[in-house]
Amino acid sequence: MIADRARFRHAKKLERLAGYRLPELAFSGTMLEALCSRLNYDALDFGVRDRILAFFDEFLRCNCKDSPLCGCPEKKFAQKVIELRKNGLDHRQIAAFMLDEYGIEIFPADVLSFLEESVHVLEAISDVARLQGRAELAKKTDDEIRLIER
Ligand SMILES: [Zn+2]
Repeated sequence: MIADRARFRHAKKLERLAGYRLPELAFSGTMLEALCSRLNYDALDFGVRDRILAFFDEFLRCNCKDSPLCGCPEKKFAQKVIELRKNGLDHRQIAAFMLDEYGIEIFPADVLSFLEESVHVLEAISDVARLQGRAELAKKTDDEIRLIER
């Protein structure tokens, strides 16, 4: 999971705010629950607060009963990486975007291997779709692959 590679640059500040130990991993259960526990975000400096709130808005808004431990945040993060790639950003630019936008540190190499894995998964889907005579799904999947690979 790509989300397991994401760390908060300002995890220490969040830890001080929460008053208990927090892991650096942005999508660890402990961190997600801390973020949802009404921390006093106003105590953070403006740039950090902005990024944490952007993270919250982008990845932590869902209506699942067991949110934020429902798996949606991790899925949304993976989708966001794919979306950025489709918009033409390369793995380095995606890593830079995550840091700038959400204060998330992720290695470009991890982004790259995730994108490669995603292509392999899509290729498998495309093969199966073709075997099953589902030409439309196969074509849609191939288009998706092309957008990630270009
Ligand atoms: Zn959810």
